[in-house]
Amino acid sequence: ELHNTILELKGNIRVFCRVRPLLPDESCSSEGKIISYPTSMEASGRGIELTQNGQKHSFTFDRVFAPDALQEEVFTEISQLVQSALDGYKVCIFAYGQTGSGKTYTMMGRPGHLGEKGLIPRSLEQIFQTRQSQQPQGWKYEMQVSMLEIYNETIRDLLATTNKSPSDTTRAENGTPGKQYSIKHDASGNTLVSDLTVVDVESVKEVAFLLNQAANSRSVGKTQMNEQSSRSHFVFTLRIYGVNESTDQQVQGVLNLIDLAGSERLSRSGSTGDRLKETQAINKSLSSLSDVIFALAKKEDHIPFRNSKLTYLLQPCLGGDSKTLMFVNIAPDQASSGESLCSLRFASRVN
Ligand code: ADP
Ligand code: MG
Repeated sequence: ELHNTILELKGNIRVFCRVRPLLPDESCSSEGKIISYPTSMEASGRGIELTQNGQKHSFTFDRVFAPDALQEEVFTEISQLVQSALDGYKVCIFAYGQTGSGKTYTMMGRPGHLGEKGLIPRSLEQIFQTRQSQQPQGWKYEMQVSMLEIYNETIRDLLATTNKSPSDTTRAENGTPGKQYSIKHDASGNTLVSDLTVVDVESVKEVAFLLNQAANSRSVGKTQMNEQSSRSHFVFTLRIYGVNESTDQQVQGVLNLIDLAGSERLSRSGSTGDRLKETQAINKSLSSLSDVIFALAKKEDHIPFRNSKLTYLLQPCLGGDSKTLMFVNIAPDQASSGESLCSLRFASRVN
């Protein structure tokens, strides 16, 4: 069976699939390979096959990265998209997949391994390099960063301590929302999240510092809140304001890089209470995201942005002439075949 993909619907939406390598402790437990790649001309680099219970399921995407694809290679494929944020476009890049499938590796990279930096640091390096190289043409750019987490349909500001005193007790503890951040969009498509920390940045180094701060803020929550980081969406936003002093041209672009909550279905483990609520919130926001992306791809009149915090937050960056890329991260081990099939189907909208 061949599933149609979102990509074939054209528009400014693309879907890339990335399969991570088997991890050392997985190699022995996996009898035979469950993932294969068609070699025919048309499917080359775009096709993927998953075999489950003797049945082969085939999918095509805009691009498929096999486990040997380096971070650098993956970045090469998206560098143009990142560049378009400097040209005034609103860009969203998502990583979707079950926990352990390589979302954070794709976005951030492997901690301590500089050669394995992910899309976020590479994008920032490119943006700040371009900013420098365009100075002679009269371009001046201002950049602002914010980072937040959406957990159980509640926003948490990951940079909250930057401008606030330690006595500020409004920060969320134990998953209980302190502040209710409200989301507003103005007529020109700018998003304002009330009270969200927004930091002016001048260099990659400054952003790296903030990313580190955000990671710490997330991991504090991790012990308190049931490994919240894989149960929440991480949204990194870089706003770019460019002015050309010789031509008076102005551009405003946004780059959103989103490490989504794990897509695994927890229902089979019979979750109850908080865990069930968490699962329902994740299911709701991931399916809302897919509803929105598909409604946009099909150019439907009504786009259901308001069905989740995530889609509402990103509304101006998902419609219009904005650009969206979804990475579907896949774990290649036998034990993950069910979840991998769900992820491939999610991305090709057959579920
Ligand atoms: P997720 O964020 O989806 O839960 P991670 O990004 O944490 O998954 O990846 C799980 C593990 O697999 C990590 O140890 C990570 O370093 C490793 N990993 C993921 N993708 C790759 C890859 N493409 N190459 C090498 N190691 C990878
Ligand atoms: Mg992760």
